Amino acid sequence: MSNAAAPGVTSRAQPISMDPDAAWQQVLARDPTAEFVYAVSTTGIFCRPACSSRRPLRANTRFFFTADAAMAAGFRPCRVCRPTAPQRNPLCRLREHIERNLERPIRLAELARIVRLSPFTVQRLFTREMGVSPLAYQRALRAGLFRAELKRGSAVTDAIYAAGFGSASGAYGAQQLGMTPAQFARGGKGERIRHCAARSPFGWVIVGATERGLCWLSLASTKAEAEATLQAEFPAARLCRDGSLQRLVKSALDSVQEAGDPGRTADPGELDLRGTAFQLRVWDALRRIPRGETRTYSQLAREMGMPKSTRAVARACATNRVALLVPCHRVVGASGSLTGYRWGLERKRQILDAERV
Ligand SMILES: [Zn+2]
Repeated sequence: MSNAAAPGVTSRAQPISMDPDAAWQQVLARDPTAEFVYAVSTTGIFCRPACSSRRPLRANTRFFFTADAAMAAGFRPCRVCRPTAPQRNPLCRLREHIERNLERPIRLAELARIVRLSPFTVQRLFTREMGVSPLAYQRALRAGLFRAELKRGSAVTDAIYAAGFGSASGAYGAQQLGMTPAQFARGGKGERIRHCAARSPFGWVIVGATERGLCWLSLASTKAEAEATLQAEFPAARLCRDGSLQRLVKSALDSVQEAGDPGRTADPGELDLRGTAFQLRVWDALRRIPRGETRTYSQLAREMGMPKSTRAVARACATNRVALLVPCHRVVGASGSLTGYRWGLERKRQILDAERV
C-alpha cells in the first residue's frame, strides 16, 4: 500500500480559496480567531482582522491567507497589529497571563492590552470559550491553588506513612512509576499534561493525560472549576488543551453507564497512576470491584490481604486522582452510608445510581 505524496506536495490539505464574504464579516467583527490577513489598497498596509485600526471600505480590501502572501503582493505590515509577528491564540495568552499572576487581581483592561483587543471583546471571547468570565476564572483558580497548598503541606509524609515505609528513601525506592511523592507534591514539575473537559450527567468532567496515559479525571460543576482542579493538582506542569482526549472522557463515562454490557465499554487506554506502592495496590483493588457492586473499606482491606490496614486503605481511596476509571465511588461506609467522595457526595450518589441500572 502506498499513498506517498508526490514530491513538493505536502500531505496536509492546503486552503485553495477563501470565502470573501465570510472573511469580510470577520474583519468587521474584528474576530481575534480569524486566521488570515487583509490588505488595504489605498494605504498599502495589511492587518490582522482583530486590528484596532479603522475598518476600510470593502472595495479597497483584499484578503490573504498569510502575511508572506500579502507582502509578496506589495503590502507593508501594520505597526499596530504586527501581522508578521507570530501569533498565539489570544485565549491561551489570556489564560497564561491570569495563571501567572494569581497572587493579584487582574482587571479586564490589563487583559485587553495583552491581546490588543477591547475589554468587551476579551470578556466575550473568554466567556464564550471558557464558560465563565475572566474574573470568575481567576477566582476559581485562586481557590483551587489555595486548597492545593493546604493539601500539599502534608501530602508527602502522609503518602509515605500510608505506604508503611519507615523512611522517605524506602518509599522512593519502591516507587514504580518514575515520579516520587515529593516530585508529585511539586505539582508535576517538568510534565506536559494535555487535557480536555466535557459535560456529563455528573457535571463537568475533565481528563488530564501525560505521554504515558491518563493521570487525572475529576468532576466539577463548571468547566472553569474542572480546569481549576487540574491546575491545583499539577500547578507546576505545562497544561495544554487537546480535544482529541474527548474519547477518554467518553470511555470513562461508559465505564459507569453501560451496565449489563461491559464488553462495549471503550478501552480507556493506559492509566498513568502515580503513587506509593501501597496506593497503587489500593487503586488496583478498586479497579477490580465490578460495576454495580460496592465494598466497605474493611472489605477492600481484607480482599487485599491486609485486614488491619482499613484506615490506610481509606486514605489511599481518598487520594485517587482518576475518578470513574479508578472507581473509588464503589467504596462505602460499613453502615451502607456513602461516606466521603473527593468530588462531592451527591455526585457519588448519582454515579452509584447510574451503575445500578
Ligand atoms: Zn493593523
